[in-house]
Amino acid sequence: MRWHLLNSSAEFLPKPFVDENFAFTRILTGAKQLRPRWKRCVQYTDTDLGEVVGKVFVQRAFGADAKARTLEMVHAIEHAMDQDLQSLTWMSDQTKKQAFVKLRAIANKIGYPDTWRDYSALRIVRGDALGNSQRANAFELHRQLAKIGKPVDKTEWGMTPPTVNAYYNPQENNINFPAGILQPPFYNNAADDAVNFGAVGAVVGHELTHGFDDEGRQFDEQGNLRDWWTDADAKAFEERAACIVNQYGGYTAVDDVKLNGKLTLGENTADNGGMRLAWMALQERPATKPLGVSDGFTPEQRFFIGWAQIWCQNRTEEMARMLATTDPHSPGPYRVNGVVANFPEFQKVFKCPPGSPMVNSPACRVW
Ligand SMILES: [Zn+2]
Repeated sequence: MRWHLLNSSAEFLPKPFVDENFAFTRILTGAKQLRPRWKRCVQYTDTDLGEVVGKVFVQRAFGADAKARTLEMVHAIEHAMDQDLQSLTWMSDQTKKQAFVKLRAIANKIGYPDTWRDYSALRIVRGDALGNSQRANAFELHRQLAKIGKPVDKTEWGMTPPTVNAYYNPQENNINFPAGILQPPFYNNAADDAVNFGAVGAVVGHELTHGFDDEGRQFDEQGNLRDWWTDADAKAFEERAACIVNQYGGYTAVDDVKLNGKLTLGENTADNGGMRLAWMALQERPATKPLGVSDGFTPEQRFFIGWAQIWCQNRTEEMARMLATTDPHSPGPYRVNGVVANFPEFQKVFKCPPGSPMVNSPACRVW
């Protein structure tokens, strides 16, 4: 108990505790040095006062223009999902009917909450980092316990506005895109639709498909636990998914450690489906607003480059080894190459001959 108390408080204690705590992290992750103090402070403040920091972040970094344009893109991708569902050969009409009901009921949450969380009951004292952290934990516990017996608040956010991430919530049937991910390289107000659809557009598509995959299918349009698939549909889905399990299970994370094709299946399927939906939405753009060649690349090429840009990353071997066994997402290089290798359109626009490393044969496809 003494160890747990110290371990969970170490970051807020004097330097010898911080250093000792980092020595532990260093072994697990291969990190070479402690992050700068200001970055750690921002992170802890975001954790404890996310919607206070978030309010300022949104004012500075997320305009009404960005919100309107991303919402428009989300609608275009939901329309593509509608068309994609209609065209699926493996899903029965009965299940499709339910899928359309669910798709139309999805709520889109973009950027930040409509009402900001009230932290007035939380006392913050300058110079008392540990006390602030402990009072913030108590405040959060109380906030969670106060939900008991009340209706679910679907407007609440599970991520703070500055967070660079997104999620689908199966129990609420909504997709959530914090303002933090609606920034370059995911979303760039100065870039055209070709780049943005390939980047954040494919992420929107990714989250949408989660409502209809092996997890999402267990919940209905209200978020209630009710499987709406027939057994035959589930079997057909799993047959297609097996292709993706094999493909990604063949990729190397580091040394002799391979990716776990089963662990990463859901996310890989969402990446592949998300790109498909974003691509369809890009094709549907109004012909009145044509996209030209830019930086020497066609719009179709820029779409794929947009996707590749968002997964640039730099990882230590220790981190790669750890994440290969615990992270349901594939490492960046495979999120990119694994997806485009299944995409005949990629091979066409970059002129990859059959049999080249970027061409997966047979190509896997679920959505
Ligand atoms: Zn996902």
